[in-house]
Amino acid sequence: MEICPLCGGSKKKGCTTYSVDLGFGIVVVRQVPAQVCAQCGEEWIESETAQKLEAIVERVKSQHNEVEVLQYKEIAE
Ligand SMILES: [Zn+2]
Repeated sequence: MEICPLCGGSKKKGCTTYSVDLGFGIVVVRQVPAQVCAQCGEEWIESETAQKLEAIVERVKSQHNEVEVLQYKEIAE
């Protein structure tokens, strides 16, 4: 079990919502797997997951929608 560097609580598998502002619009990805501190609620996204999010953002950028809300599960696998 990993320990939270901020508060010393334990990290647990959970989900977070990732959002990024592209200037012309925003991308929101829901249900992103992450490590979440049980005590303070800080979240860490693993590098493999972060890479997938980057690819998703690149794809969305080319579509130029003002708001794009996605479910991680539906686009990452
Ligand atoms: Zn913590």
